[in-house]
Amino acid sequence: MIIVIMGPPGVGKGTYAKGLEERLGIPHISTGDLLRAAVDEGTELGLEVRKILEKGKLVPDDDMMILVSKRIQKEDAQKGFILDGFPRTVPQAEMLDRLFDKLNKKIDYIMDFFLDEAGLIQRLSNRRQCPQCGRIYNLINIKPKNDLLCDDCGIELMQRDDDHSEVIQKRLLVYKDKTQPLIHYYENRKGYLKIEAINVDDVLDEIMELIKQ
Ligand code: AMP
Repeated sequence: MIIVIMGPPGVGKGTYAKGLEERLGIPHISTGDLLRAAVDEGTELGLEVRKILEKGKLVPDDDMMILVSKRIQKEDAQKGFILDGFPRTVPQAEMLDRLFDKLNKKIDYIMDFFLDEAGLIQRLSNRRQCPQCGRIYNLINIKPKNDLLCDDCGIELMQRDDDHSEVIQKRLLVYKDKTQPLIHYYENRKGYLKIEAINVDDVLDEIMELIKQ
């Protein structure tokens, strides 16, 4: 099973992808997480992309393609995977199609999540993440049990550097300009689903029902 998760920043792609990872037993591959890990580890790619991430811009398509191509060919992704945050541009989608042709793979579902802009901004500015396990919370609707500590690790939650208001605005503009055109690229494909990103558990239950059918 190969699933592509699409949608604007703040729609909750990571949360839905994690939920599907648990339910389907296939890895959640977030390109944002891969890039942030590269920055933290100070790899060659990390040094190159740090400033791009801070500004809310996009990493070049060729770098992204190398990163994704390596990741999806690892052992744990052989039964399937959930791509979160990739593709993000039409050229990336075209490169992914070419890679899948070569690897004899196909996308089963393209899940395109949407929410109004006020909702996105509210979610982004209230998002917090555990620096240890990566679990995502929201101070409005997915609150941690104990103050601002991770429910699982007890560690203080962090706000992502790019979840501050100026960068949020930039990321939303970049989404409209570069990523929204992808909707036309995919919308007539078998497996394309447009999903309103409301209550996480209800939405995940509905998706699982649909997949089982
Ligand atoms: P995300 O965690 O998906 O919100 O991604 C965080 C940041 O990583 C984005 O704002 C981009 O700077 C970068 N990024 C993630 N995925 C991609 C991609 N497919 N293409 C280019 N840049 C990306």
